[in-house]
Order: sequence, then structure tokens, then C-alpha cells
Amino acid sequence: MNLVRAAVAENRLNDRDRAIVREQYKEQSIDWVHLVRIDPKALDLDEFQIDLYDRRITVKKRDRPPSLDSIPNLWSGRAIQASDPLGWDPGTLRDVRLYRQDDGGVRGSIYIDDIVYALRPLSDGVHALIRQDLSRLHSDQDDVRIRPVPVKPRKAISPEPSSSTQNPAQMEMIRIAVGYTAAAVGGGPLEAMFVEIEDAIKKANESFAANNIAMRLELAAWADSAGYIERSDGAAIATTLAALAEGPDGALWLPHAARDGERADLLAMIVGAQGDTICGQANQVGSSKETALFVFKRGCLFSHTLTHEVGHLLGADHQPGSALDPPVFVYGHGFQRLPEPGIAGWSTLMATDCPPQRCPRQNFWSSPLREHEGETAGTAAAHDNARVLSENKARVAAFHPPPDGASRKRDTNSLPRYARASANSNSRAFIIASNPSMSAMGRHAR
Ligand SMILES: [Zn+2]
Repeated sequence: MNLVRAAVAENRLNDRDRAIVREQYKEQSIDWVHLVRIDPKALDLDEFQIDLYDRRITVKKRDRPPSLDSIPNLWSGRAIQASDPLGWDPGTLRDVRLYRQDDGGVRGSIYIDDIVYALRPLSDGVHALIRQDLSRLHSDQDDVRIRPVPVKPRKAISPEPSSSTQNPAQMEMIRIAVGYTAAAVGGGPLEAMFVEIEDAIKKANESFAANNIAMRLELAAWADSAGYIERSDGAAIATTLAALAEGPDGALWLPHAARDGERADLLAMIVGAQGDTICGQANQVGSSKETALFVFKRGCLFSHTLTHEVGHLLGADHQPGSALDPPVFVYGHGFQRLPEPGIAGWSTLMATDCPPQRCPRQNFWSSPLREHEGETAGTAAAHDNARVLSENKARVAAFHPPPDGASRKRDTNSLPRYARASANSNSRAFIIASNPSMSAMGRHAR
């Protein structure tokens, strides 16, 4: 059985869907968009084919590790090509995630090394099959705003974890508020952007589980900043972060209000930023509550950009040579495995790209305790971002502790709330509601 059933001609699309397809081509890493009809019944099977136009693959279902949440409607597996060596374990290089929607649509992603094929439902059963070359993304060398000085001078780094009061096994919940611009929504349905970011947060949580780091990200609030106009000259990310850093009195006051109202530890903005060459920017490597801000580009979500910038805020940095010098943590660097003849390259979440070679980013953190392809994915001395996260998660999770000392372990079904400026635009009044249409009862504040 083949998930992809038939091609659809572009002139069959309605105006809105045609605009969504055109929007894809503005991102320079998108190779092509094909329109297809699919057969959702394929997801009843443990193994099926997918015709991806420039290749045909077999996908095989995999059980999710018991440490991970079961996600309703998720078919999770691995892509196999005829040329793959027998018994080869590609890790997350061949990750397949397909979500079945109630309306029969299927959305998701299929990774083949650093190529990702995304499936995106349009109207009337038509789907966009989008090929993106992730090697043309993340030149992340310049994705930290405040470069010269870490948040506070660190005392001489001991080889032991820095704090004796914290319990590394204690699960820490780090809450995040996300503001969005009109360019991030890109003329498509708001809901489509929401599910993409929610999926990115699930993948971040999978990366923590992959390194046995007892922390989770939880989405606390959305903030509608559609009135903030992004620059289109390649500086959208840097200028949006600068505006966010102006704080609750700046142009992006609403995301700050949402963050405070919903007690989020981190504050982020998602942007369209189609002219930008970087994928995101974090305010600081090792942030304080005031500097725990980042901006990320929607077109880079498949490159684990959200997770990468969160890593910076917790103190993790790139591979040596592309990181702060002196480092915030001498052991807190990403790890790159450069390709050699017969050996494919790969890298961990905090590593940057390695042009002209390819070292696709995998969804786990550098650590001497972690292996990939039979090789150690880090060193205790220099490449242990997992340790940085374990040592800093409690500090960051306490930026906005829950009221009354309530447990950080929240109901996993707790849903984010939605903030929007109220109609009277002269005052900075806003509404927070439990759904984006604001039809639910809101409360006024400020
Ligand atoms: Zn970075």
C-alpha cells in the first residue's frame, strides 16, 4: 500500500491554498512542492510505501519508548531505502512522524538524512508534499545576541556537577510563552502553525528523554503579535529579538504580558523571516529570567531550531570554535561527527552545520554517556551539553515558579492560553482566553 495515491494539478487549488503553496517557495531551502491525494488507511498498517516523487521509501512502525508520552493519532516509525545497509541504525536521521487528523487529512514529516519531506493538508483532501533541504539552513554561528559576557561570572568549573542541593532526577517543567507575527502565520490557518510548534515542543521533550535529562517543556501561552511588522531585509530575527529585549514597555509588550500572566519561564517569538540566513537567535548563553528570550523561524522548525535556542538559554553552546570563548561551561559544547569515506557525518543539537560537508543534526544532546552509530557522542571534558541542561534546568524552571509552591509537575493535559490585544489599541489592554477565537470568557488585565 502507498500513502501517496495520486497527483493533483495546481489549477485545482482554491486561492487560499495556492497562496500557501506560493508562500513555501519564498523559503530558499524548499526544493519543491507537489500536490497529492493520500490514502489515510495506510496508517492502519505497520509497514507501507510512500512515493516521494524523487524516491520511493518503505516506512516501518516503531514502538515509542515507554519513557515518552503516547501521542494520540501519531504514527511514528522509520524510513528505509533499498540501498540501506542491513541492520543499520540511523537514529533520528530517518524519523517518520505522521499525524492522522479527524477530517481524514495526514500531516507530518519524513527525514532522509538532512532532507525532510513534509506532508501538509490543504482543502478538499489535497495535500502538499514539500521537500526541504536542511543543509541549506542553520548557519547558526551568529545566533546568540549577547555574545561577550555570560550572565554571571562562573567560578572555576569543578569536574563535579555544580550544585549539591539539586536533584538531577527531579523532573523539572519549563514553561514557555510564544508570540507570533503575521509573517509567521504566512496567510495559512493559525491552527497549522500551532500544531507545528506543539510538535517541535514534543520533539524537544524527546531529545531530553534521549539523554535521560529529567526536564520537559510545556507550552503556557500564545500571544498574537500580528500587529508587529517584521523587517524583510534579512534582519527580521535580530530586530525582533531586540524588540523583545526592550521588555514589557517595548513594541512586543503583549508576549511579555502573556508570559507573566501564564507564569512562563521562557519567552519566544516565532517569525516568518524568509529573508534571514539564520534560523533563530537566543538572547544569551545561560540566561537570567530577564534575558530568557529567543526568536525562531517557522521555516526552520524541522531543523530543531526551537530546541537549539532553548539549549542556549540553559547554557549549552556550539561546538568549540563556533562557541563563546571563554566558554560559559568548559564542558558545554555541541559535538560534530564529520563525515569520512564510508562514514556518514552527524551532529548533536547544539552543533552548527559543517559546510561544505554534511553532518545532519540529530535529536539528542552531546554527552559522553550517549552513543550513536557505535561512537560516543561527546566527551566529559568539552562536549557534554546534557550535563549543562541537567545542572541548569531547576534554575530556569524557577524563573516563574507556580503560585503557592504548587508542584512543577503539572497536569500533562494543561492547555496553553491565548493572549490578544483588546480592540482599544491606544491602551495596552489585552484578553487572555482558552481558545484562539476568543469566544470563551476572557479576563482583562493590566
Ligand atoms: Zn546556536
